[in-house]
Amino acid sequence: MSLFIRGGEVVSGQGRSVADVLCVDGRIRRVGPALEAPADATIIEAAGKLVFPGFIDPHVHAYLPLVNVTAHSDFANCTRAALLGGTTCIMDFAGAGREKDFDEAWGVWTAQAAGRASCDYAFHLMVREWNAGLRAQLERLVARGLKSLKIYLAYKPSLAIRDEDMFRLMEFAAANDLVVMAHCENAELIPVLQQRLLAEGKTGPEWHEPSRPPMVEAEGVCRFLTFAAAARAKAYVVHLSCAEALSMADRFRDKLEHLYVETMIQYLTLDKSYAERPDFEGAKWILSPPLRAKSDQEALWQALADGRIDTLGTDHCPFGFAEQKTLGRGDFTKIPNGLAGVEERMMLAYSAGVNGGRITAERLVQVAAENPAKIFGLWGRKGAVAAGFDADVVVWDPAARRTISQRTQSLDVDYNPYEGFEVVGAPDVVTVRGEVMVRDGEFVGPTGRGQLLLQGGGS
Ligand code: MN
Ligand code: MN
Repeated sequence: MSLFIRGGEVVSGQGRSVADVLCVDGRIRRVGPALEAPADATIIEAAGKLVFPGFIDPHVHAYLPLVNVTAHSDFANCTRAALLGGTTCIMDFAGAGREKDFDEAWGVWTAQAAGRASCDYAFHLMVREWNAGLRAQLERLVARGLKSLKIYLAYKPSLAIRDEDMFRLMEFAAANDLVVMAHCENAELIPVLQQRLLAEGKTGPEWHEPSRPPMVEAEGVCRFLTFAAAARAKAYVVHLSCAEALSMADRFRDKLEHLYVETMIQYLTLDKSYAERPDFEGAKWILSPPLRAKSDQEALWQALADGRIDTLGTDHCPFGFAEQKTLGRGDFTKIPNGLAGVEERMMLAYSAGVNGGRITAERLVQVAAENPAKIFGLWGRKGAVAAGFDADVVVWDPAARRTISQRTQSLDVDYNPYEGFEVVGAPDVVTVRGEVMVRDGEFVGPTGRGQLLLQGGGS
């Protein structure tokens, strides 16, 4: 089975050139000008289009059962939305808090994905505590190729890891070449601020941001990176939202050999005024860390452009408004935290970032394909349009105009956080391992052929 993508402008992190792309048996065989198409090849004409590597979202919750509520998502609808948006690989988090150990968490998440996912996927492993039994389980997962761990500094008592456990885990990570990812917010300060606001009668969604202001996130970044430096671990700050936390991360650049920072499309394109909308509508935009000030957006774009931010994800985690967000009516602390975004990420980033003159298309490829692949051990297989890589390709129409809307989104959720946003530039054809999954912007692929990627190449 071969696929031939003719005459598009192939974009990598280093540059671009007009070339044909020949894919055979699910892999890219050759990239170059004026290649010959095999007689049996499926031909895709890409003149006037950009040809991107399939984008990778390093931070997605396709399946997330929380204590009182489960995200309105599964691997089928999440990966379908991802593909429609040009994302061909998602990285989810195995473990949400109720599983008794790593083996159980790994089993639950791999079972959820198998047969449902339409694009390839990898897992980071959630860690809440550290002991000898968990260490033995983790050693087995590492031997199979696991490369990344996720901890929460926030959310006591269910998820947050103790400082001592965090340090021991980081020592293990350093010895085993694992990346430690952290949700950085101070777990003790948030409930104190929440209770103070509620006691003052401040119960609406607009009080979510003041209950976890930038300093709460900056403190988390400081503590996480202090521990990582002491343990000499690879550190990855997830979903950084604001200038204050970014400045804190900058202070550690000469103290850590491997420091990675991730931001999310919502922090670049939305601000806290959305969560201040009246009549509880603001609940649609509640997530943590919260949406910030307009001025934070510009700081994040600048850092994305100059290299201080390495990756761009979504933290995709949709909740319905009427059924789920309203659990927090009268008490903002009970609003389920999360937004959809896996379908919209690249269209928003291309429009606001590339068309907006803030980053180049090459930089977009770095932060949304190359860097996630390199940091998490998928490079060589994912992240580039180059010989030997999986044939995960996005033919991108830079002139396509779309208006984002709940009415046209693929997810069965009752709102879209980007309702009414006009974008220019959208995926036309999307392939996974040489199979066309999206054509003319429509999902045409089979459900369930996504594969589990073990980041270190294990089995
Ligand atoms: Mn988080
Ligand atoms: Mn998350």
